[in-house]
Amino acid sequence: MIADLADALRCIRPHEPAALIMSVDRLSGRQIITGSLGCPVCDARYPVIEGAAVFDEASLVRCRAAPAVPSADDAGVIRVGALLDLTDPAGWVLLEGAASAAAAALHALLETAVVMLNPPGPVPPGAELSVIYAPVAPFSPGLLRGAALSHGVDPVIADSVVGALRAGGRIMGPISVAVPAGVAELARDGHGWVGTRRAVPTTVPVTLSRGRRQDSA
Ligand SMILES: [Zn+2]
Repeated sequence: MIADLADALRCIRPHEPAALIMSVDRLSGRQIITGSLGCPVCDARYPVIEGAAVFDEASLVRCRAAPAVPSADDAGVIRVGALLDLTDPAGWVLLEGAASAAAAALHALLETAVVMLNPPGPVPPGAELSVIYAPVAPFSPGLLRGAALSHGVDPVIADSVVGALRAGGRIMGPISVAVPAGVAELARDGHGWVGTRRAVPTTVPVTLSRGRRQDSA
């Protein structure tokens, strides 16, 4: 995973959002090859193994055992770039499951920072790509600029990806996947749909925040 990504990740355990602390054992350019991510709240440690951040061993084992998906063709990559409105390279784009087949070409075409979540099969080394194995998208809310879901995505993962999308961020999925809650559908064709993350209310009624304290540290 790219070292810069560490700032964007958060602990997946149920407690208030916590940034993870990176410790690096082996670095190759900007890629962390071996290391770990530690949570300062619950002391969870998530290893970085062969360049991939592993939040869940079971996800890693299941994905590595799945058949690899051939790399997306040019038309497929351009479709992803267009539907996710990737007109500039700023921000993180998440490609989930088999949708990660477009990762290398998407980065080569648009210089977009791409994160692959639970890619099936062995992942060929890509110097500028990040790989994560996790039961949910381990990102701070609103961090992703765009995301693509794949056929058969776990609804829990789909919802967590939406939660990690910034308001107005684009998300796409195949026709077999229902548009997740919180997403306004923009268009659909015979292959899939694209939508945007609805704006998240910025003010919360006082009664809902009772008993929760905001620590400034
Ligand atoms: Zn934690």
